[in-house]
Amino acid sequence: MESYTVDKLGFYGDFGGAFIPEILHRCVSDLQEAYLEIINSESFKQEYDELLRNYVGRPSPLYLSEQLSTKHGCKIYLKREDLNHTGAHKINNAIGQILIAKRMGKTRIIAETGAGQHGVATATVCALMQMKCIVYMGKTDVERQSVNVRKMEMLGATVMPVTSGNMTLKDATNEAIRDWCTNPTDTHYIIGSTVGPHPYPDMVARLQSVISEEIRKQLLEAEGREVPDYLIACVGGGSNAAGTIYNFLDDDVKIVLAEAGGKGVDSGESAATIHIGTVGIIHGCKTLLMQTEDGQIVEPYSISAGLDYPGVGPIHAHLATTKRAQVISIDDDEAIEAAFQLTRKEGIIPALESSHALAALNKIDFKPADVVVLTLSGRGDKDLDTYFQYSY
Ligand SMILES: *Cc1c(COP(=O)(O)O)cnc(C)c1O
Repeated sequence: MESYTVDKLGFYGDFGGAFIPEILHRCVSDLQEAYLEIINSESFKQEYDELLRNYVGRPSPLYLSEQLSTKHGCKIYLKREDLNHTGAHKINNAIGQILIAKRMGKTRIIAETGAGQHGVATATVCALMQMKCIVYMGKTDVERQSVNVRKMEMLGATVMPVTSGNMTLKDATNEAIRDWCTNPTDTHYIIGSTVGPHPYPDMVARLQSVISEEIRKQLLEAEGREVPDYLIACVGGGSNAAGTIYNFLDDDVKIVLAEAGGKGVDSGESAATIHIGTVGIIHGCKTLLMQTEDGQIVEPYSISAGLDYPGVGPIHAHLATTKRAQVISIDDDEAIEAAFQLTRKEGIIPALESSHALAALNKIDFKPADVVVLTLSGRGDKDLDTYFQYSY
């Protein structure tokens, strides 16, 4: 049977690994050696579970949407990560990583952020743990996302605007890596998704796997069975999707991943990495990525800031190429329509990222007996300015 989990060297089939400059070897190999032992230790588990419960507000509900169920002729449950503290799934990972950093004796945290969501989650846990926090953010993004910048600063973080390249996420990531090279002993780099060199994709997937752990229990209670027929999630770097499927990889369940088609997969303006990407190395990881023929990274585009990463987690590249997962590309317009549908029919304003997963429902033929679990990765508060530009 095909294995979908990581191997000893950090690979998922052909994808993953740790392709890093010599100067980072020490940082990365220290983390590789430490993370599993820490995650599996009783003291970590206790502190992590405690914070997930009382700080984040877990378990997040599994909500049966009558409206979506009627519309699609099956049973559709929403896994409500939008109800977490700070409004999305990212906090699960940020808390886990800061607890790991503490146990490794680190005193300084760095992070990169695009739209600012991961930056806010990181600044939040740094305030909670009283750790120094530096967030790298492209200057273009700093200007576009002023509320998140001010939130991070209010939380006590230092936001460093990055002026190289296109001044967006990719450039912020490069700058964070540069910082880590200069401060290897006291600093931990909190990566926000299942990307980067091994062990990050596996570490982040494990820290998000609480999502699927809860789904199994909640579905057993609601439906008398732990395994649904479909699991659906959106994919930027892939962390909410990885958390959603982690404890189901070897079960008989269809996995559907929604990626951002932007203005259309073939429009030249998309972030549909799995559809149009080719194999390459980005931020220390071998995966599918959007690049020109001579290997220059193509700037991605999506209406949703959380989905426009030019690469994708190696776990998802592997699931897609082995056909374990079906990948559906959702355009901006389809995501917007799905967002307004959920808002009007259920009174839930979803994050634009999650709206891509919702729109994928329209592209699947469900049978009446099907049980579907869709992860609502976040709430739409941060996207209101975008939503307000549309009227329905
Ligand atoms: C960041 C973000 C995403 C995309 O990141 P993944 O690592 O692919 O999960 C999706 N939804 C929300 C709400 C986000 O903030």
